[in-house]
Amino acid sequence: MVEISVVFILLLISGMFSGTEVAFTSLSVDQIERMKKEQGKRGNRVADLHDHIDVVLTSITIGNNIANLAASALVSALTIRWFGETWLTASTLVLTILVLILGEVTPKQIGILHNEAVTLRLAPLLRVLAIMFAPLIWFIRLISNALTRLTGGAKRPRVTIEGLHHLVRYAGSAGLFNQLNANILKNVFRSRDVRVGAIMTHRTKVFSLEKRQTIHDAFPAILDSGFSRVPVYNEEPERIVGILLVKDAARAVAEGRDDMSVSRIMVPPVFVPENKSFHKVLSRLRRERLNMAIVLDEYGGVAGIVTMEDLVEEFVGELYDEGEIEEAQPLHPVAPGEYLLAGDAPIHVVNDHLDIELSSDGDAQTIAGFIVDRLGRIPEQGEELDTRFGTFTVESVGQSHVASVRFRRRDADE
Ligand SMILES: [Mg+2]
Repeated sequence: MVEISVVFILLLISGMFSGTEVAFTSLSVDQIERMKKEQGKRGNRVADLHDHIDVVLTSITIGNNIANLAASALVSALTIRWFGETWLTASTLVLTILVLILGEVTPKQIGILHNEAVTLRLAPLLRVLAIMFAPLIWFIRLISNALTRLTGGAKRPRVTIEGLHHLVRYAGSAGLFNQLNANILKNVFRSRDVRVGAIMTHRTKVFSLEKRQTIHDAFPAILDSGFSRVPVYNEEPERIVGILLVKDAARAVAEGRDDMSVSRIMVPPVFVPENKSFHKVLSRLRRERLNMAIVLDEYGGVAGIVTMEDLVEEFVGELYDEGEIEEAQPLHPVAPGEYLLAGDAPIHVVNDHLDIELSSDGDAQTIAGFIVDRLGRIPEQGEELDTRFGTFTVESVGQSHVASVRFRRRDADE
């Protein structure tokens, strides 16, 4: 019976190692910082170990394997002694189940739930083990690194953006998080590549005011527009010189000072180039506590505006606020496999909706830009562009730009 108890003790030791392993790897940076602050020396010990997580994990693996293998050897010896060799298969099966339940799965669940308590309590023991196993760890690493190099995998970074991207896509399709979260994560990765020019509101669609208008004259139109910030221009809408905060205008009206010009209370605008990644623009707006930036084209002219709301929507999808008039859809189906697209629909949005992978060779961010890029000129109405996903037909052309396009999927005829 002593032998049976030893087997169970070995299983518990195995469980302790497995639980600790998960506890350590599941600690977040936040948790470690808090433990350092609240637990003093004990917390620092955990933080130290976490800084050498590879040594800790190797020590745990060694301890876990010693326990599991010792239990297995002991059970085999006992089986042969008590029941004979014919029962070895059966006893191995029973032990495997016990190892899984007591030595692995249950302890790991506990370890993840109570990762702080477990790591605090076991940190001293792990330090001793890490020192004890140091020569063994060194030897194992040597062999394992040599073997890794043989398979040619030594130089690749452990985590790449592409790898993460695949992981997120896989996790999304496996139902690990809901569609909204999967989309947000996908958009976060994409934010490095999407230029602010793709998501801005084009200048022809921007509501703006001339700087010499009085607040009194402009106010009804401002209220109608429903915006909380309005760009202000000097003589021509392409020359934006300020931004009017509607709350400032409202205060002026309320205080009877509305006979002054808009330029008296506007604030200076912030300019960003249209090829800047929206990720960077978002960082800048956040840092400077701003809500709107004026987007400039490559010649320094105003291309459009981008607001904090536009940027946030890139992550979480369309938001609607009370005053907002529902915008024209960038894309809508007209027949099976056939869609009408707005010329200024961003390429990445069209890709998402239609599940295709258009990519521009040049800097184009919109469908109109994509078509002009491919054809090398501004097309005329009715012109077609073939891609491997389907055919684009120019539906209407505005002043020197493609206003709308019809897209027909390649497989739509079949
Ligand atoms: Mg174990």
